[in-house]
Amino acid sequence: MRRFAGEYDVVEALKKIFREHKVIVSQKRLKEIVSRILEDEKVGERRLRIIAINNRIARLKIFTRESKKIFSSDRCPVCNSKISVVKSRDIWGENTKIEYICRKCGYRSGIRKRIPTKYIFYSRIK
Ligand SMILES: [Zn+2]
Repeated sequence: MRRFAGEYDVVEALKKIFREHKVIVSQKRLKEIVSRILEDEKVGERRLRIIAINNRIARLKIFTRESKKIFSSDRCPVCNSKISVVKSRDIWGENTKIEYICRKCGYRSGIRKRIPTKYIFYSRIK
């Protein structure tokens, strides 16, 4: 029976992969490789991504598209860290521009929420 993989096993699998690969071109691809190592243990793509970021195993390049929705969360949609709200004004001090920035993974959004569409993973393992 398949069970959910423990954090330790996932971290070890990710470290092994990123020692061998400098770049993994998509989250789906990463999951395929991890699943081969973990065999009958399950791990979801989102959890995989968050573990890789939190354990400093990989850096991400995040591709996004702008949606019609207003950004309305205090959490990063990529890594679930707390998001920073950055307000800046133009030189006349009139228009305020608001940006949402994740200091952990580099995700950015404007007032209209940017939806992540693709990730490229770069190894941080030396
Ligand atoms: Zn983030």
